[in-house]
Amino acid sequence: DQRNRVVFLGAGGVGKSSVLQRFLFGTFSEKYKETIEDLFPNEYDINSVNFKVDFLDTAGNIAFPAMRRLSIVNAHGFVLVYSITNEQTFEEVKQLWEQIKEVRENYQEIPCVIVGNHLDEENNRQIERFDALNWAYNEDLGGGFIEVSAKNDVGISDVFRLLLQQVKKP
Ligand code: GDP
Ligand code: MG
Repeated sequence: DQRNRVVFLGAGGVGKSSVLQRFLFGTFSEKYKETIEDLFPNEYDINSVNFKVDFLDTAGNIAFPAMRRLSIVNAHGFVLVYSITNEQTFEEVKQLWEQIKEVRENYQEIPCVIVGNHLDEENNRQIERFDALNWAYNEDLGGGFIEVSAKNDVGISDVFRLLLQQVKKP
């Protein structure tokens, strides 16, 4: 069909749902509510071209590898989220990207944005901005790299601007 599906992946608790919630509804909740899988259908008019994009929020859970593989197979774009305060979550983004390269032959053409969340917790930073940026650059990631805070609404609209620039197809 005509719909584009953008899948949010990343370790549990990094803020995938919070980034989406901030962008779609302008809200933020301190409470942690575990995601199973949520689909958010959206439509945009850009330069008077209408296109449809569905955001798929996932559990980011490696306990269901088959489910994760399926979400990778069916995606038109990816948002890979980690927390700048947790090195392990960045390692998980690297692993996800490896899996995307394995599963998708045309991975270079697939929009993929790397998002470092929890920018409001600069004091607890474990991943340097430069290191993440450098990795994304060396991997030839089509989409881009950005640090954000879902809590303070920093950089969130840029994630979607970067993404939609690339996903947009009538
Ligand atoms: P998910 O498992 O990746 O979907 O993570 P959630 O979006 O559910 O967020 C997990 C927890 O982290 C929640 O308690 C959020 O309130 C909190 N959180 C999410 N984003 C941020 C952020 O940018 N800064 C801070 N300080 N906390 C955040
Ligand atoms: Mg979630």
